[in-house]
Order: sequence, then C-alpha cells, then structure tokens
Amino acid sequence: MSENFKGNDILRKCTLCPRECGADRTKGFGFCRAGENIRAAKAYLHMWEEPCISGTRGSGTVFFSGCGLKCVYCQNYRISAENFGREISTESLSEVFLRLQEQGAHNINLVTACQYVPHILSALEICGDRLKIPVAYNSSGYEKVSTLEMLRGRVKIFMPDMKYLSSELSAKYSGAADYFEAAKAAVGRMIEIAGKPVFDDEGILQGGVIIRHMVLPGGYRDSVALINWIAENFPKESFLLSLMSQYTPYKNLPSEFKELNRRVSTFEYEKVANAVRELGFEGYMQERSSAKEEYTPEFDLGGIDELIINN
Ligand code: SF4
Repeated sequence: MSENFKGNDILRKCTLCPRECGADRTKGFGFCRAGENIRAAKAYLHMWEEPCISGTRGSGTVFFSGCGLKCVYCQNYRISAENFGREISTESLSEVFLRLQEQGAHNINLVTACQYVPHILSALEICGDRLKIPVAYNSSGYEKVSTLEMLRGRVKIFMPDMKYLSSELSAKYSGAADYFEAAKAAVGRMIEIAGKPVFDDEGILQGGVIIRHMVLPGGYRDSVALINWIAENFPKESFLLSLMSQYTPYKNLPSEFKELNRRVSTFEYEKVANAVRELGFEGYMQERSSAKEEYTPEFDLGGIDELIINN
C-alpha cells in the first residue's frame, strides 16, 4: 500500500461522530469499526438515487465501511456492521473520485463517510481543481456539527437521513437515544452550509440538502410526527424531502425485533405520504413498487479494485 493517512491527532482520540467513543484509531478500531486507514466496499455509478442525483449517467458513489450508528435493520449491514471492504490510501481514494468523474458521474456521493472525513478532505485536496463535479455527503444524520464544519467549502450537497423523532425508537433500533438531538442540529447546519437547492440546466442538483426518511414497519406514527417537526422547523424552500418506501427486512434480524421482519404496508406508507403531500414539501416520494432488492446494493468490492491505481 502506498502512503496511508497519517499524523492526524483526530484519530488518536476520535470524537468525529456523536458516539464520541474516543478510540485511538492509530492502534485499534472505534465503535464504528474504523481504524487508521480508509476502508471502502464499493465505488460505482449509482442509478437509483433521487433523479436529481443519479440523473442520466449516475452518481459516482463510494460506500465506506463501518458506521457509528448500529441500526438493527441496516440495508447495508455487510459494510456497516460487518465492516466489509478493503483498505485504500487517500491517494487511491482521490484516483477513485477522478475515475468516477471520467466515467461520467454527475457527482461524487460519499456514503457513510463520517468516520473518514479527515481522509476524504486529504483525498479532495489531492484532486484539487481536477475534480469538477459536486461532492455529496450521504449520511445517517447522526453527525456532529463540528465535523460537518470541516466539510464547509468542499461538500456542496448533503443527503442526511432523519430516521426517528422518538428517542425510544432510536435507542431500541439504532443504539442511540440521542439520535434526534444530533440529527436536528446536524441537518440544520447542513442547510446553513449548503444553502437552498440549486440545479443545473439538466435538473441535476449542484448544491443543497435532501432530507431522507425511510418509513419503518410499525413506525408510521413517529414518521408523521417527524415530518411535521421538519415542516415546523426548517423553511420548506431550504431543502428537498425524499420519502422512501424501500425498507427490506434484514435476513439476520435478531428475534427480539420480529416486528421489523416485514415490509411496510401500503396503509403505513400512505399515512406518511399523505402528511408529506398535505404539508407541500418539494422533493420525491418513492413508488411503493420500488421497495425491492435492487435498492440494496450487493457489496462485492465492485469498482474498488478496478478503480484503484496506486494502492
Ligand atoms: S467516528 Fe468511529 S471512532 Fe470516531 S467517535 Fe465515532 S464511532 Fe468512535
């Protein structure tokens, strides 16, 4: 491996995410399972993001391994919980970004990247002016404002989830009773950093925030409460809302969460969709027919090996 990311004190006592586990990542791994070097599981042109992100040529998506949030139903469990992926250097990551751009990507889409923000900034620095497409930060919403501030000026698009309003649900399903408190501060700051949504002539987002919410089985009341909270607290013209119906039961779901072992019903989804319609948000609502496995990518290191040049 060529020169890895070194010498950043942040990694010696990591507090990049609200988990603030304080791990010395130069010697071991944090709660999120991130160590000293970047791990990534896939890099490819993603055609299934929102139309303003995937466009006609795809979103240049890089899935990073590990996660500071441990959702029991995670759709990407292989990389978030099992840390599937391979180590790559910051130089290689910069080459991945540039290759995705060469392949026609409308943007660089960093998925679950919080634990690697210092590395990503180094990779973007290496790219410099050669990277001309906007960078998007695709997040669970469990973020710290101070870490987001590191991205100011480099990231133009934020795609945060807002998963729950209820701390009871977030504690039960994601091991984070403070999820909503963290996410509301984080999303507010993302809106402030990115500004109102801006599109190019082809309708591709160049800057702004897309707040995403995925309806969970049995969770529609919390979803409706959350949607109302968003309407009351963020100016509607300052972000796009994306309502997702793609929940897919995780095959290894622990038996104590058996209520999650089904798809979201039409009744549940429509309850939330009606709230979104009535409140008049700009954005996207995924068709119920879209709740299928193609939204859940296979993680096979696809694109990582092919795109890496100097590792
Ligand atoms: S990013 Fe990972 S290592 Fe850092 S505080 Fe969060 S869980 Fe711990």
